[in-house]
Amino acid sequence: MRIAIIGAGFGGMAAAYDLRSSGHEVIIYESADYVGGLASGFKELNWEWSVEKFYHHWFQSDKYMLGLIRELGWEDKVIFPRPLTVMYYKGKFYPFDSIVKMALFPGLGFGLDKIRFGFVGLFLRLTNNWKALEKVTADSWMLKWAGKNVYEKMWKPLLIGKFGPFYRDVNMAWMWARIKARTTRLGTFEGGFQNFANLFAEKLRGMGVEIRLGARVESIKREQDKLIVRSDGKSESFDKVLVTTSPNLMAKLSPDLPENYLKGLLELKSMGAVVMVLALKHQLSEEGYYWFNLPKEAGYPMLALVEHTNFVSKEHFGGDHIVYAGDYLEVGHEYFSMSDQQLLDRFAPAFKKFNPAFERDWVKKVWVNKTNYAQPVPLVNHSKNIPAIQTPIEGLYFASMSQVYPWDRGTNFAVEIGRRAARMMK
Ligand SMILES: Cc1cc2nc3c(=O)[nH]c(=O)nc-3n(C[C@H](O)[C@H](O)[C@H](O)COP(=O)(O)OP(=O)(O)OC[C@H]3O[C@@H](n4cnc5c(N)ncnc54)[C@H](O)[C@@H]3O)c2cc1C
Repeated sequence: MRIAIIGAGFGGMAAAYDLRSSGHEVIIYESADYVGGLASGFKELNWEWSVEKFYHHWFQSDKYMLGLIRELGWEDKVIFPRPLTVMYYKGKFYPFDSIVKMALFPGLGFGLDKIRFGFVGLFLRLTNNWKALEKVTADSWMLKWAGKNVYEKMWKPLLIGKFGPFYRDVNMAWMWARIKARTTRLGTFEGGFQNFANLFAEKLRGMGVEIRLGARVESIKREQDKLIVRSDGKSESFDKVLVTTSPNLMAKLSPDLPENYLKGLLELKSMGAVVMVLALKHQLSEEGYYWFNLPKEAGYPMLALVEHTNFVSKEHFGGDHIVYAGDYLEVGHEYFSMSDQQLLDRFAPAFKKFNPAFERDWVKKVWVNKTNYAQPVPLVNHSKNIPAIQTPIEGLYFASMSQVYPWDRGTNFAVEIGRRAARMMK
């Protein structure tokens, strides 16, 4: 078969790998002039490694991603340091990435609340019955089982941070998936995620996959027994097409989809993200903390502060200290229209809270990355609303972050759904 894949993110490339391995002719259209999609990175001249535009790491439980890397023979390039994650409590940060550290965290006291926190965590880790959990909101389930105090101190800030105005509507299966599929050890690829994406693209090209960069697809239409892909004013025909963009874009690319499928795509909710990457002259967290969870009510102008060079060595970045400051936001939030300088003015005063010695002249350079589609929002009984991978148009398939449910989005599940779509197409 002659197959087109729209998008050279991890999902599209994983699908291309399997389809080409089975002998099909595969062409990938990618609108950007690089591969890697949301997990892509960039590199300054004095850096050996790239930095992801949006902070990225793997979990040890990411079996689809790590399995693919093993198949490709690059497992020796995956590293799993043990960075420190901290939680805010009354103006201070406390390590929060192991059972012992959680037990010592002062934010929940040392009585019944801590026991409830522990039992709820254990239950969620052990149960596989997410179908029961998706029937209720995380807000109501947590209030009932973890209790008001534990919920308001631990889980509510996480929900508000990720989902903003939708935080009360997110179902409990999302929370279950987060707790179930995560580990404290975090991994990356030598050279950064972009290095992996580039090596993977090279491998695909070597196998005969054509990757067209800077090729934005404008429409996909069924004409007799072929699918016609239109890009840069030219049309080409294919037997099958896999789209890996956001649901919104899918609806625009293929308006001939039946009304109920289109409606399903357009009704899916998601959050965008704005993430600033900073190159600093000095280390921000001298305690060596990697990930700061920041509750919105503590007044921070961002949800997460991530010091990348407390995860991998600054030597890979010519001695620069790399810090991310980011937030999940509804599209239309003021951060989307602010200039890099305005956003830095908003964020910079908060950096003193991580290191009182911080001065504005520590900032060597900033890059701001924005995306409308960063985090799907799963509502109650969401499994009924997932668009099918095989669309009602014959030969047209769709695999996106919004369909990896009950799991939360991530490169691991992009690989899984890409490979699942490839199996269906074969
Ligand atoms: C802030 C943030 C933090 C994250 N952190 C992590 C993390 O720590 N670990 C992790 O594993 N994952 C993380 N993720 C999620 C991860 O990036 C995604 O799940 C994954 O990259 C999705 O891959 P994909 O192939 O499904 O889609 P994408 O990467 O979005 O790929 C789709 C591709 O389609 C292309 N495209 C769009 N429209 C067109 C068109 N018309 N024509 C041609 N091409 C088009 C796009 O340019 C893009 O390259 C994070 C995401 C965000 C936003």
